[in-house]
Amino acid sequence: MKMKAEQLIKKYAGENSISDIGICSAEDFEGIRAELEKSADILKGFVEKDIQKRISPRMSMEGAKSIIAAAVSYNRDCCFEIDDEIRGYISMGAAGEDYHLYMMRLLNGLAEILRQKYGAECRCFTDTGPLCDRAVALRAGIGYIGKNGCVIAKNGGAAVFLGYIITDMELEKSSKSKDTCGSCKNCLKSCPTGAISDKGFKTEKCISFLTQIKRPLTDREILSIGLNLYGCDKCQRACMKNMPAENEVEDIDAAMPKIKDIIEMSNREFKETYGKTAIGWRGAAVIKRNALCALLRYRGEKAMEIACGALKSENKLVRQTAAQVIGLMGGGKNGLDALINAEKNEKDTDIILVYRDIIERLKGAGS
Ligand code: SF4
Ligand code: SF4
Repeated sequence: MKMKAEQLIKKYAGENSISDIGICSAEDFEGIRAELEKSADILKGFVEKDIQKRISPRMSMEGAKSIIAAAVSYNRDCCFEIDDEIRGYISMGAAGEDYHLYMMRLLNGLAEILRQKYGAECRCFTDTGPLCDRAVALRAGIGYIGKNGCVIAKNGGAAVFLGYIITDMELEKSSKSKDTCGSCKNCLKSCPTGAISDKGFKTEKCISFLTQIKRPLTDREILSIGLNLYGCDKCQRACMKNMPAENEVEDIDAAMPKIKDIIEMSNREFKETYGKTAIGWRGAAVIKRNALCALLRYRGEKAMEIACGALKSENKLVRQTAAQVIGLMGGGKNGLDALINAEKNEKDTDIILVYRDIIERLKGAGS
């Protein structure tokens, strides 16, 4: 008996570690326009800036009739022993191969089958695509929005990558999820900054967001970053709906790199080490800035030495953050001397002002 296209799509998902798959119409997502306009400033640089393109699938593919949405679980266990090195933490979804590449391989595989079998036109996207992944996933019945602000996929839970294929095929649509979080509050309890609360989700308080923006962080933000070098997945890891972990992370340096190594890396070394991972696209300076923030969880002589060394960085974001971190660690004789020295050699007037302010504060506090 000839298999229907929808059955074939489900079969492909089952055979290729796609935890959830659903189909929806390619009509405009007009209902999310107001929400997208409201968050446009905060999410600038992260998403397509033309709101019409984020709403209209047909601006990405003329003649689009359906969208196939997919979720892939990235839940993994860590099975290494923590040593006494000064290390930061890369979120579970970002350590290792860039998920955009992985997801695109899976979507392209399905698109190729649809092209060959049905002559379909298909365009594949993940994360960086023009449409709002969450809106697509919801309409296609992949899941619902949980209290942590993530799509909670029926099978994959909160720890999933999302992607979609826009196609000109007329396909049977999936029904929307009726699931809810119920009385569970695991993610609210796990969030270290209070970004999730009963009142909703506050992007500007979220560590994952802070580790990805490019500007210098305020002292308050620096203190909230914790050990997170890129992303924070505490609220996703805490979700009771996650699919059980199938893989384990064995390499401690991949999930928890040494902070000193990160800070001392040249741009070329950074590219070689992280170029094919999700953190590669954020660039070395942002990850080094976050690594400096993580030193605050260690403090002590070793941490101060690393921060003082970073004052010699060629990058001004790194130098400024190093100075802030030294200030937040209380300076001490070594920190203060390093700052006074750095101030004498600094050429950037903005950074000179930052140094002077911190030096004054430390002197006032008797460093
Ligand atoms: S990613 Fe981290 S900081 Fe952001 S909401 Fe989740 S637990 Fe809170
Ligand atoms: S942890 Fe609980 S409340 Fe939070 S998203 Fe998952 S199910 Fe919902």
